Amino acid sequence: MRLTTLLDTLNNGGNGPWPPEASTLTDPEFDLVISSLIPCRQNDAELWFAERESEVEQAKALCRACPVREGCLAGAVDRREPWGVWGGEVFVDGVVVPRKRGRGRPRKVAAA
Ligand code: SF4
Repeated sequence: MRLTTLLDTLNNGGNGPWPPEASTLTDPEFDLVISSLIPCRQNDAELWFAERESEVEQAKALCRACPVREGCLAGAVDRREPWGVWGGEVFVDGVVVPRKRGRGRPRKVAAA
């Protein structure tokens, strides 16, 4: 997905292109500028799909500073992302969960 598609979901008040210099950039240049602002493009992407809770929390913290967080989360909810950290939230089986539980742990509630 082109990053501008993601950015289209941002509420920038209809004040023109964002970032402002974007209107003079080619598509690849624009994507490069935007990528430089997005934490999951600047760090190891595996962090967003980590198993360790400490790493998941690190990904969530990095998302909090992301300029496209709101749109990212909305898109992930729409797509019912099967897993990973999206928009600062943890997804498991297409829904947001409060925290990721490690593999092999028993369910809190017995399965029916
Ligand atoms: S909010 Fe989305 S785009 Fe931004 S760092 Fe988190 S996962 Fe990446």
